[in-house]
Amino acid sequence: MDGEFCVVCARTDVPLTDGECAECFSKRVPLVTAPERPIRVVCPTCGSRLIRAHWEPTDAGERLTSEDLVPLLVPHPEVAIRRVQWTETGGNRMQRDVEGAVELSFRGLELVRSVKMVVRTEHMTCPTCSRKSGRYYTAIIQLRATLDGPNESAVDRRARLQATWDALFPEMRRPWREALSWKEPLPEGWDVYVTDTLAARAIARLIKARLGADLKETATLWGRKDGHDVYRVTLRLRIAAPPAAPGSARARPVQRHA
Ligand SMILES: [Zn+2]
Ligand SMILES: [Zn+2]
Repeated sequence: MDGEFCVVCARTDVPLTDGECAECFSKRVPLVTAPERPIRVVCPTCGSRLIRAHWEPTDAGERLTSEDLVPLLVPHPEVAIRRVQWTETGGNRMQRDVEGAVELSFRGLELVRSVKMVVRTEHMTCPTCSRKSGRYYTAIIQLRATLDGPNESAVDRRARLQATWDALFPEMRRPWREALSWKEPLPEGWDVYVTDTLAARAIARLIKARLGADLKETATLWGRKDGHDVYRVTLRLRIAAPPAAPGSARARPVQRHA
């Protein structure tokens, strides 16, 4: 590298990438970032964590551990994270303020960068515990994509359907919300288990009305109780992705809730 020098600091005795030394680059570009308000999902029964679509068993219980936090970090592609020292700076049982001193290596440099997050904990029974406990439900709301929608990865599809659900959640009446039991992630979307069929129907109709979603109800015979057939109801909602551009073929007006 005869005669080559860093365009920022003019050093000539260090390797350069695109004319810049690693130290100058590391001052300009964030080497590691963290989401401001991530959510960690914990099974209240066995403590397993939902990491993307997978449930990971752990012995940590409710404790917030490095295993919960490190996967949330987004390192620059050339960064290797060596170790993180975490400090809790505040919060309560459901929400913790944490700071991390991230020890990392980047193009031969050993550096420390600090990150801050407010981690919220959400409880959701994992499928294994749901099955074991034989939990009671009378209806399932299935959140699905429309069949003619754009190609979406399973993760994107679930995130989109989750966001739709979250947006309408405040409009669900309290007795409807209280009937929600647990939710299972699937490649095609979400299954929401509900302990009250009337509440499940009301929620499904709300989503249909607000988003123009396609709703199909089916019932399956589940057993007999007091001389009557007992049915479980499945409410399948197909929810369209928002149109890619205004005026595109898929654009459809959002129907107002009457
Ligand atoms: Zn430089
Ligand atoms: Zn569990």
